[in-house]
Amino acid sequence: MSNSVDHPLFTSLEQQIRRITSTIHDACIAAQRSPDAVQLLAVTKTHPIETIQAAYALGLKRFGENYVQEGVDKIIALRGILPDNQAIWHFIGPLQSNKTRPVAEHFAWVHGIDRLKIAQRLSEQRPTHLPPLNVLIQVNISDESSKSGCAPDSALALALEIIQLPRLTLRGLMTIPAAIDPQANEATQCAPFVAMAQLHAKIKAHLPHDAAPAFDTLSMGMSDDYPHAIAAGSTLVRIGSALFGRRPAPTQTMTLNNTPH
Ligand SMILES: *Cc1c(COP(=O)(O)O)cnc(C)c1O
Repeated sequence: MSNSVDHPLFTSLEQQIRRITSTIHDACIAAQRSPDAVQLLAVTKTHPIETIQAAYALGLKRFGENYVQEGVDKIIALRGILPDNQAIWHFIGPLQSNKTRPVAEHFAWVHGIDRLKIAQRLSEQRPTHLPPLNVLIQVNISDESSKSGCAPDSALALALEIIQLPRLTLRGLMTIPAAIDPQANEATQCAPFVAMAQLHAKIKAHLPHDAAPAFDTLSMGMSDDYPHAIAAGSTLVRIGSALFGRRPAPTQTMTLNNTPH
């Protein structure tokens, strides 16, 4: 990609960033929330590093990756390339316990924690020269047996265990609710997000005073539903296709049991 700002990738991406940023802003105002209350996480899984460079040049700083090897390769490749490297990398995919080490070594955030064992390994493997790893408990708010995430009723107990781990900072909750009929009314669309916001508030109220202030993040909302998530209290929306277009099909180098949603 050339550095020309009128490169087609740049102009369309710039338009999408403007459109999404203004939708986030409007959703905040409508919900009587501060427009700074919601951060945009650019989900770059399957997209090449040129796309991430373009997004970074246009001001995006937070990037989400789903696959361990692909994500680590991109982080390392971009380390020497991004000017004044301020990129903040979030691991948002499912994480198996035998793949925790590279995640602990390279990412700043992990969203999908749904059991203590994964959290313990990440804490043990977090290098001492790095700040504690920021983690979010993934909650299965729609109660689908096929999806990952802990049951809402188990989240508080898991939170109380995770806050004991020395190399992690528990930052909040994350969810991927079941798809809802886009024709459904506003209250139905928002229901899982409202339930998440209530659970977040409940857990925060039960955390000890030294752990409660850091518990400030509610990662919910994707390309198709982020205004509803913001209406309910999301602080971090994870946007892929609305920014970068449809994802290319996964390549052979990606494991087949890990196809993008
Ligand atoms: C892929 C993915 C996203 C982005 O999805 P879009 O619908 O493309 O915005 C967000 N969160 C998670 C966990 C994902 O896997």
